[in-house]
Amino acid sequence: MEIDKNNQYEIIVFPNQDEGLKAQRVLVAKGDDFKHISTLAVVVPEEHKEAACRAIIYENVLISGHYPFLYRDYEEDFFKRAQEYRVSESSGEFLKSITLCYVAPCMADEKKIRLIAYFDHDISELLPYLNAIIKGASYNKNAPTLTYAKERRLINLYSIKITIAKADDIIDAWKILDEVKELINRTYKNKDTIKPNYEGKVKVTALQIYGWLPKSNCKFCGEATCLAFAVKLLLGEQKISKCAPLSTESRFSENKKIMQEMAEALGVA
Ligand code: SF4
Repeated sequence: MEIDKNNQYEIIVFPNQDEGLKAQRVLVAKGDDFKHISTLAVVVPEEHKEAACRAIIYENVLISGHYPFLYRDYEEDFFKRAQEYRVSESSGEFLKSITLCYVAPCMADEKKIRLIAYFDHDISELLPYLNAIIKGASYNKNAPTLTYAKERRLINLYSIKITIAKADDIIDAWKILDEVKELINRTYKNKDTIKPNYEGKVKVTALQIYGWLPKSNCKFCGEATCLAFAVKLLLGEQKISKCAPLSTESRFSENKKIMQEMAEALGVA
């Protein structure tokens, strides 16, 4: 299938290569129009998305999710990057696999995606070690969770899952998951040389929190500015729910979810 910049497309993502290959066989057998991205994803015309997903699921093949492929300038090299991407082959001593189970667009920023993936091993015991080596991470030993930012992306590590918000696209997501897997396995291997950090220090700054707020300085929360609200939130003197635009406007629902996860992880929820 040739991609026409004037049409709308959807990317369907699969949890692993086996499911991806099976799904593509289903689409071929059905004579569906699709473009192969890799064994892990395909592009289909937007209007065929529902039928394609139904056909794949009908054959008991798993789908992680889908999101719009808008083919804007920033995605010009998408297919080249996808071809160059190689699925990590290293099995690792500790973590063998991370399975991508949920993919969807970020509601507040349609150019980005969010995802949930599951580990094949409980990583709880490694979180304090990861807390010691990931710069700017915040550990909540009660949950337990480890939260950190990678540029504008927010990453939450739980005992058996990882959530990522604001990934650029599916290639970015795969690369981050590979990096996390490699980091977890390296940390496990070097555990004896790392001093675990059990402190749940608040390392997120008010400016980082400000980045997730609507930045309209509307004063609904009782503060003069969004930055003042961010500072008070960090100090535990404000609540996310007091920011009316964040709570009521759907375009901020993704940011609200991220803020809630961050606040929970920081223990200021
Ligand atoms: S209510 Fe929200 S958007 Fe308005 S000033 Fe407060 S933090 Fe900023």
